[in-house]
Amino acid sequence: MLHRLPHSARRLGALVFLGAATAFAAAPTPIQERADRFLTLVNAGYQALYTVSQETQWAADTDVTPAHEAAAVAAGRAYAAFIGSPALITEARALLGHRAELNELTVRQLDQALLNAAEGPMTNPDLVAARVAAEARQAAVLNGFEFKLGDRTITANEIDDLLQNSTDLAERRAVWEASKADGPALKPGLVKLQALRNGVAQELGHHDYFALQMAAYGMTTDEMVNLNDQFMAVLRPLYLQLHTWVKYELAKKYHQPVPRLIPAHWLNNRWAQEWPGLVAAADLDPYFKGRTAAWVARTAEAYYDSLGLEPLPASFWTKSDLYPVPAGDPRKKNAHASCWHLDLEHDIRSLESIEPNMEWFQTAHHEFGHGHYFLCYTRPDVPPLLRSSANPGYHEGIAELGALASSQVPYLQQVGVLPPGFQADETAFLLNDALTNTVPFIYFASGTMAHWEADVYAHHLPPDQWNARWWQYVREFQGVEPPAPRGEEWCDAATKTHINDNPCYYPNYAFATVLKFQLHAYIAKHILHQPPQRCNYAGNKEVGAFLQKIMAKGATEDWRKVLCDATGEDLSTAAMVEYYAPLLAWLQQQNKGRPIGWE
Ligand SMILES: [Zn+2]
Repeated sequence: MLHRLPHSARRLGALVFLGAATAFAAAPTPIQERADRFLTLVNAGYQALYTVSQETQWAADTDVTPAHEAAAVAAGRAYAAFIGSPALITEARALLGHRAELNELTVRQLDQALLNAAEGPMTNPDLVAARVAAEARQAAVLNGFEFKLGDRTITANEIDDLLQNSTDLAERRAVWEASKADGPALKPGLVKLQALRNGVAQELGHHDYFALQMAAYGMTTDEMVNLNDQFMAVLRPLYLQLHTWVKYELAKKYHQPVPRLIPAHWLNNRWAQEWPGLVAAADLDPYFKGRTAAWVARTAEAYYDSLGLEPLPASFWTKSDLYPVPAGDPRKKNAHASCWHLDLEHDIRSLESIEPNMEWFQTAHHEFGHGHYFLCYTRPDVPPLLRSSANPGYHEGIAELGALASSQVPYLQQVGVLPPGFQADETAFLLNDALTNTVPFIYFASGTMAHWEADVYAHHLPPDQWNARWWQYVREFQGVEPPAPRGEEWCDAATKTHINDNPCYYPNYAFATVLKFQLHAYIAKHILHQPPQRCNYAGNKEVGAFLQKIMAKGATEDWRKVLCDATGEDLSTAAMVEYYAPLLAWLQQQNKGRPIGWE
């Protein structure tokens, strides 16, 4: 469930308003006036070029053709040239030299403009061009790689299907090993990108590329890695119980002795990042029989409307691309679900391929959540450079909150997916949710991914140690090991798509997961007065007002303040522990007498 995160621009009318507001307090200083004039220009140019770039990218993603691709590349180049222009960088830096004399909103816009510029600072055009070319080559190797099983070609989808369904361990191992074959082909490009991404980040004074990505949180690399370590420490008792239960289940399934660490090819996911398909009692797909995809979409929007949030604009329904391409239509579209803020105003669209099943039901609630977030901060007093979430994890966290609310049994009964008398196997639901969406995922995202990428970018880990370090972390954090030793002739980290095309992004997902449970706990306890494992947001305007307050701020305030104002708390994993407390108790019963953990 990905989406496009805007780094946004703003409308001229809003700037006039801000100027007036400043004048109210005291006559603007010359430096404030200079900043206001500069930001008027930056916001206008940014919004215009962002819109053109998004329009062409939308065309390229909803109708994949070489002409659309070329138009998107050209528009992307114009956008990048503007946001990374030397004049913009020089003036933003000069103004920030007077930080104390500028109002907070101005400082936040200038900081954001420099963060946007840092991805492609045209103060060093050769370096930026080298990075763009290397990224494009890496994408071509990644997308063009042919996997082989024995001597036949096998697609990535076939690999995933086999890992989901095969019970033959020899076949599973062969498929898993086949899925790692692109690592060596991707490694030389990744070695180049290690240097180029760091070089680009250093151009505007960031220590390294990982540090640049964490700057949106106002945190250093070490602070972010420590935060992720805290997430894992708090959840560890639950993870060890889940790990134990799963390895006993899998040993039974494959008729094997119980292992100490889980062999990677026993799990359904190639990277052991989620552990789906282990809880048959939680399958809700049969209840979607007779429903249409359009019903799923309308129900998701009705959910947000029922909270009292402003409805998505009418153009959302005419311009979005929500359903699979009909059979026989030669058009190709991007398979990833996403939500777009095309013009940073009211042109909001979603790209999905909704089908009537539980996964798409949750995905629609997730993507429409992004849409409502866009809508809430599209207002005159949010500067367009700050029309994004409080930090990158907030957008995903709020969207995921919609998905979580949509999977609660009382809500599913209210909308008619589940019959009124449905007796939920609550343990099965919690277990499935933990395994599929959250708990093993934290140990992959906060553990293996965050640590390995911090090592590669911030600590310059030499490439001849990459594979050993990867598996060291998979063992240590996830309790998983490869079926046989993996030497440095492999580069198993590079088989993970996002290591190549979305580097240093997983701390955002980990943050979003923790935030989601914290907001959910607050809503369940203080607004709904219902148990967090079994509650219904629908129809409650107070829930809508609570979310609206967070979303309407966009990126105008520090994320810590936004959270504290909303909940009275600092970021905490406690809500996640509490949510799964009944599951932990059940697992401790099931695992009685079994050795827990792998050390
Ligand atoms: Zn999303």
